[in-house]
Amino acid sequence: MDAAEFPGAVVVPAACPAWCVTEHGLVLGEEDSLHIGARHIVHGDVAAWLCMSTDADGVVDGPYVVVGDTEYTLDEARALGVSLIALTEGAGSRAAAKG
Ligand SMILES: [Zn+2]
Repeated sequence: MDAAEFPGAVVVPAACPAWCVTEHGLVLGEEDSLHIGARHIVHGDVAAWLCMSTDADGVVDGPYVVVGDTEYTLDEARALGVSLIALTEGAGSRAAAKG
């Protein structure tokens, strides 16, 4: 799509990942190279979302998973999720009876 043919059309950078919901073209420069995914409410006011940046040379940083104020690599986020599930699944079990 040629933006010149469709005035007002949102210009999506070629490097924009499928999950990005950022309206690119509203700000110029480095801010516009930030790709941000939809927010998922984790609990209360804690949200999680994907983010990634692409610099002018096309160098990609990310994607990362942001949870609250903390940024995780995909592997770290996966490990956190697995750990949380393991914690919850172990919470209902009782110690094996001794003897
Ligand atoms: Zn984007």
